[in-house]
Amino acid sequence: MARPQQRMIPEVPFVQLDTLWIQVGGTLCNLQCTHCFISCGPQNHTHRMMKLSQVRHLLKESRLLGAKDYYITGGEVFMNPEIFEILEAILQHGPLDVLTNGTLITSEKAAQLRKIQGRSPHPLQFRVSMESFEEKTNDKIRGKGSFNRAVKGIRNLGSAGFPPILTVTRSWDDGQDLEMEARFLEFLKSLDVPEPRLKILPGFLIGRLEENLRAYSSDEHVTEKCFENYDITNLQCATSRMATEKGIYVCPILVDHNDANMGDVLKETLRPFALAHSACYTCRVTGMTCKSE
Ligand code: SF4
Ligand code: SF4
Repeated sequence: MARPQQRMIPEVPFVQLDTLWIQVGGTLCNLQCTHCFISCGPQNHTHRMMKLSQVRHLLKESRLLGAKDYYITGGEVFMNPEIFEILEAILQHGPLDVLTNGTLITSEKAAQLRKIQGRSPHPLQFRVSMESFEEKTNDKIRGKGSFNRAVKGIRNLGSAGFPPILTVTRSWDDGQDLEMEARFLEFLKSLDVPEPRLKILPGFLIGRLEENLRAYSSDEHVTEKCFENYDITNLQCATSRMATEKGIYVCPILVDHNDANMGDVLKETLRPFALAHSACYTCRVTGMTCKSE
């Protein structure tokens, strides 16, 4: 009897460490969004928050390996009691993008961030995640009150001279892109954000989105054919790694998957990775990167 043909799983090569992601918020978040691909929330302690000492250690190693820029994420990074010290430490090493839901950024915190930027040699930038320019639609996904709190956070950041990039997970139909982009940019302008910028991310059908929408189907995976006319090193996993309190993962998307944990220290993880996860299919078909540009 003929045996079913085995799928050849392509490997992404490791080119160099350009970007280090650090999960300083762990999986702890004050929100519990219905599409969160790592199911973060107030009770999720799968990954603990990172300590300043751990971040310092990573910075030292990443500098030796030539890292050019840094991103921090969670969970919600502003739940970390050492967040300001962590920001300041990273900014001694390179440019930093902070991913946040914006709901904990008071005017006092924004002023403190401005002071940190004033004494740092590298630029600090913020990405605030929301779902909609309409309160009802946003709060249906992110929880009651999250719209108004994020709006305050965006205004506070803007007033402190940090016009944030708005990050949105794509939840509308094909063909609506232009209209939705225009409406989000208008929304940012209405909040007095100069030169509004938008980052649209695809939904990954893992974590809470898998529970609330659907799982990947069996034919949603990458094959070697997917990379015949596509440079595989465009995938962010060719040039970055994600550090968590439990070790170094291949990317920020797969931190809930043990087989994506590549080692305890960065230098152990600078090697190819087999793209066996269906989430890799989303990266390939959307050409997406978690980075800001
Ligand atoms: S999507 Fe972001 S804000 Fe929402 S629960 Fe996940 S980490 Fe928190
Ligand atoms: S999910 Fe995306 S970034 Fe992560 S390993 Fe797969 S292709 Fe790379």
